Amino acid sequence: MNCAVCNNLTFTGCDICSVALHFPNRRSETSDGNCVTYYHDHLYFGLAAYDYKLRGLPKKDWVEPAPAIFNANVVLIKEYDAGVVSSVSSSTL
Ligand SMILES: [Zn+2]
Ligand SMILES: [Zn+2]
Repeated sequence: MNCAVCNNLTFTGCDICSVALHFPNRRSETSDGNCVTYYHDHLYFGLAAYDYKLRGLPKKDWVEPAPAIFNANVVLIKEYDAGVVSSVSSSTL
């Protein structure tokens, strides 16, 4: 299975979501194990490999978000939480 967040091979997953994810106690060469945290953290919304559907891009075109991209996403999601913006459209992801 490919991890829903980093798109690399993983043999672990979330039992509740039935989604393949890396876990901190099962580090691998391709992941620091934080994928399970990112997947369940709504501030990471739109950035995980799984979210390719939201962006309308082929999954193969997904790349790990740079820190600046993640930080911009955090600002966007927090604005959404605060009601500053009414939607998080694919054009702003
Ligand atoms: Zn992963
Ligand atoms: Zn889960």
